Amino acid sequence: MLMTNKKTEYAKLTKEEEDVIINKGTEPPFTGKYYHFWKKGAYVCKRCKTPLYSSNTKFDSGCGWPSFSNEISGRVNRSVDADGVRTEITCATCGAHLGHVFTGESYGHDRHCVNSISIEFIPEKKNK
Ligand SMILES: [Zn+2]
Repeated sequence: MLMTNKKTEYAKLTKEEEDVIINKGTEPPFTGKYYHFWKKGAYVCKRCKTPLYSSNTKFDSGCGWPSFSNEISGRVNRSVDADGVRTEITCATCGAHLGHVFTGESYGHDRHCVNSISIEFIPEKKNK
């Protein structure tokens, strides 16, 4: 169900989505629908539909959640997590909780560890 209207109102969230997006929960690892998902396109915020990540930056980290090396510039905010240790990432537009970003790992780039439930995949448009 893909809503492409340009209204500023946010999408209605299910209870499961609210638990993560509003209450900053974490979906169980290896269960998210985008964990093993490699189509070309963009990942938008589940709530406000702002594009956050490109499939070009998605990589297989083995951590159990969709992982991206980089966000679309300016679309994701970083802040110190409530645990005081991790770095929380949120949608810069609506503040939706996305997951956490980990830096200084052996990949040579950051690892954005994102809950599948916080994002929605939009396939790349094929120009004919
Ligand atoms: Zn958002």
